[in-house]
Amino acid sequence: MNVLLVEDSTRLRDSLGRGLSGAGFTVDAVANGVLACQHLDTYEYELIVLDLGLPGVDGMGVLRHLQGRQVRPRVLVLSARDQVSDRVEALNRGADDYMVKPFAFDEILARLHALSRRSKDAQSLQLTLGSLALDPVARTIHVHGEPLALTPREFSLLELLLRHRGRAFSKSQILDRLSGTESSASDRSVEVLVFGLRKKLEQSGVKDLVQNRRGFGYLIANA
Ligand code: CA
Repeated sequence: MNVLLVEDSTRLRDSLGRGLSGAGFTVDAVANGVLACQHLDTYEYELIVLDLGLPGVDGMGVLRHLQGRQVRPRVLVLSARDQVSDRVEALNRGADDYMVKPFAFDEILARLHALSRRSKDAQSLQLTLGSLALDPVARTIHVHGEPLALTPREFSLLELLLRHRGRAFSKSQILDRLSGTESSASDRSVEVLVFGLRKKLEQSGVKDLVQNRRGFGYLIANA
């Protein structure tokens, strides 16, 4: 479980980072909102522990940065601001939970575990687009109710693009995401993979689903 920890107090960042790592989370810790946004554009996180009072782009700015994303991490705001209006604003901007400093570490841990359970429940939901339905748990795909047979890599690619609809993935990003499933990883192998996936989709009546945006990569467009 990857966590992005955003906190400008060095002492708090270090102690929280150590605590979360000790509890089994993989933690990236940053000290300001600009770095937080860069990390969110580059890496995948399931959870964010977010301070509100930050230099430069503050916590609300980081929440704004995430707004509109179809897939986004769950956010636990950790702030000294204890007014109801602060909580309301953070929750309205997409925070999933809010804790006021000072806090008990055990409570943070319990809340993060609760958020990660919710995140997993959401991930297990079926992904649908038009006549196409992908079940990530059963690892099945149906088009107009008819099963469609894909290789494991084709399935993973389709799931990735469906989950992040509207976002383009370069060949190297696709290789990163699908790594471990095959050793011969090259740009060419991604082209072959996409070709195979498109062909099977077209044969089942789904045309032009996977697009190639020149210079950016492959994507499934938003409806
Ligand atoms: Ca702060």
